Amino acid sequence: MVSHSIFNSKILVKNTLLPLGKIVCVGRNYAEHAAELNNPVPEQPLLFIKPATSAVAMHEFLHLPQGVGDVHYETEIALLIGQPLSKATAIEALAGVVGVGLALDLTLRDLQTKLKQQGHPWERAKAWDGACPLSDFVAAEQVTDWQALELSLSINGVEKQRGKACQMLTPIAELLSHISQTFTLLPGDVVITGTPAGVGKLAAGDRLQLELTDLLKVTTQVV
Ligand code: ZN
Repeated sequence: MVSHSIFNSKILVKNTLLPLGKIVCVGRNYAEHAAELNNPVPEQPLLFIKPATSAVAMHEFLHLPQGVGDVHYETEIALLIGQPLSKATAIEALAGVVGVGLALDLTLRDLQTKLKQQGHPWERAKAWDGACPLSDFVAAEQVTDWQALELSLSINGVEKQRGKACQMLTPIAELLSHISQTFTLLPGDVVITGTPAGVGKLAAGDRLQLELTDLLKVTTQVV
């Protein structure tokens, strides 16, 4: 049962249509993914933000920017926030989650590499319009064990990514608590929790199938 849906950048939270807020993202939250891009594992969660204007509905066609180098997929577990969280404990933070879904943290990898070398912020590579396809969200009450959540991505029938929440360097509850020490999370905000290993390039015509445990199954296609 899907209880929260993105519609025109609004999100249905417990029968109230809210504007979709900021999307707080974490980089390098799975050790094997940090290693595949030759990045060190961070000492504390590496955070960045995508604006609401980067979100699109995942089940619609994916339109990628042209002439800007490689566009990489990163499949991530997405958490929909339902109550304000500021300096929350891990227990309080988890209680503030109303929905769970999937996100694609689309990344202009060539541009990001250049920005990193220059010591510049990543937004041009991560925050463009359409850079955050989001699935519908399943009610959080359906999650019996947050650590057991498992995501997977197949492209054209071949599995590319698979990861479990228990492999995260900072687990979901602690991650939300950590984020809320710096950024107040508001109803309608989304937190995406990092990608497992296996990221790669998208090409026109690619058919993507994403799954979250037995809670969600989404198919989409690159135009
Ligand atoms: Zn990511």
